[in-house]
Amino acid sequence: MNSNMGNMTGDEVAAFFRAVVEDLGANLSLEFTPASPSIYLDGKVFFCLNDLNGYKWRVKERILHEIAHHFEKGKRQHGPNFYEPYIWLLGKYMALVEGEVKA
Ligand SMILES: [Zn+2]
Repeated sequence: MNSNMGNMTGDEVAAFFRAVVEDLGANLSLEFTPASPSIYLDGKVFFCLNDLNGYKWRVKERILHEIAHHFEKGKRQHGPNFYEPYIWLLGKYMALVEGEVKA
């Protein structure tokens, strides 16, 4: 951590991702990419390196947003089928310290 913006390193983001995915028992992987925007595709989150520059809450939200697409039923369109897993994931994991899962 080398800024007061509260942003996360790639390692911290990967640790957060791993903690969430392991807790969920989900078969998901993470790859950092220069391509924008961050996306979810077939069990994999492609996380845009530019998205590391935001506030910590935004970085975590972005990870959870992409994970939510894994649980979204039907067509990917950020609609009601997306909100339910998205909000559930935010409630369960946003408050966690990175890399830690609440007991
Ligand atoms: Zn999305």
